[in-house]
Amino acid sequence: MTLRVYNTLSGEKELFEPVIPGKVGIYLCGPTVYKPAHIGHAVGPVIFDAIKRYLTYKGYQVTWVVNVTDVEDKLIAAARDAGKSVPELARELEQQYVECMSALGVRSIDIMPRASEHIAEIIAHIERLIARGAAYVVAGDVYFDVSRDEDYGKLTHRNPEEQFAGTREGLVQAAKRNPGDFALWKAAKPDEPAEVQYDSPWGRGRPGWHIECSAMAMKYLGQTFDIHGGGMDLKFPHHENEIAQAETDTCKPFAKYWLHNGLTRFNTKKISKSDPEFEKVMQSLQLTNLLATHSPELLRFLILQSHYRSPIDFSDQALAASKTALDSLYRLLERIQRASGADPYEVSILAEQVKDDGTHPAVAELLGTAIRLQVRFLEAMDDDFNTAGAIGVLFDFAGHVNRFLDATRLETNAVEPLRTALQGATGTFMMLARLLGLLIERPQKRGGDDGDAQKLMDLFIEVRKMAREAKQFQLADVIRDRLAELGFVLEDGQDGTRWRRA
Ligand SMILES: [Zn+2]
Repeated sequence: MTLRVYNTLSGEKELFEPVIPGKVGIYLCGPTVYKPAHIGHAVGPVIFDAIKRYLTYKGYQVTWVVNVTDVEDKLIAAARDAGKSVPELARELEQQYVECMSALGVRSIDIMPRASEHIAEIIAHIERLIARGAAYVVAGDVYFDVSRDEDYGKLTHRNPEEQFAGTREGLVQAAKRNPGDFALWKAAKPDEPAEVQYDSPWGRGRPGWHIECSAMAMKYLGQTFDIHGGGMDLKFPHHENEIAQAETDTCKPFAKYWLHNGLTRFNTKKISKSDPEFEKVMQSLQLTNLLATHSPELLRFLILQSHYRSPIDFSDQALAASKTALDSLYRLLERIQRASGADPYEVSILAEQVKDDGTHPAVAELLGTAIRLQVRFLEAMDDDFNTAGAIGVLFDFAGHVNRFLDATRLETNAVEPLRTALQGATGTFMMLARLLGLLIERPQKRGGDDGDAQKLMDLFIEVRKMAREAKQFQLADVIRDRLAELGFVLEDGQDGTRWRRA
């Protein structure tokens, strides 16, 4: 099976072939640490964490770099407003970001370089661009001259005139040569704090935003590396400028594959930004707030349920739908535990390792299906990291195991070869889920939430099922109706009975 990835640079799905066989370097544009991260900021890291897991599974040695922008206009203003120093606020928010990512299962980032700690690399990068005639100094500022980069605009397939039409006024004000020229270095302003001013050959100042990424990506991953990621909104001008800086400096291709993730859509459409309600909604979308009220796995699951290039609709309804889906997987795991006598979180055997003695046709059927679904899962991931498709396969898998349990009645009637086959299928199922970073830890109980309720409801569902099997339909209906009176709704579906709170 071969991996294909959609490359923004070519606009096509391409065969994935790393620059150095066996190794993959990934750079993802990280946070500007000036305000708390919201759910939209988690999308890239969650997706690239799944991508790293998958590439590692395929045998690659992956290095993943996510930068921290800690020298920047908005950060300087935010620190001033908060009465804190820039480094103080930046470290505080960086720490919060790392904790949120860790909660979401994003623990595989190898290097998180800070812009403020790479000023020497940034200055050297700018000096080389000046030496090549691609950058010029105006009163302590340094600009990149886009007219000196022949293929400027190749990522977004537009020419610079188109991109900067109507910005002539800015040109005059900033004394730039071309409207599209952008700052590599910004001269210090009198009202800015000293901690964001650095010495340079052009006087005191600080780097522009774009230059930190090409400088740090090349430092940690080499002049040419494999995958550069970021949100769709960063394609222009940020990524276009990164390419211009790096490729003009080295005369080599910068990143081989450019992967852009979709942005998050919130249901704030009817609220104007000036409405106080807007601020309240945005605050509820902050990761620290979301993680206080929702399980991190649910948020991760919701993100991975969309293909990474699609927009993600984030709403209470979407969360509720994801929760129902994820809960059905937890219920399956509990069913498996009862039927197989083994804890699914501890199972280490895979379907392909189970020997079938041929005594039960259901064994061959279950193992064969597990292996077939594994192939389908891997095909989905090989198709441009289609996590949505891969999750779809997990649910097909779950449906199959539920039907197997219905047919064999293994929960009440333990038969050894069937139990072993179930363990093998479970091992494969868990292995695949974990490639997405799901089902790694048991669901956390939150404030007396559904942990105990789940166990009791499983018991009611089981008893009701036994009543129906014994044709005691009246009893089964009483169980359902009395639970409904208590606010627990049972829903019978093809995969068995589910419950939800009314
Ligand atoms: Zn960047």
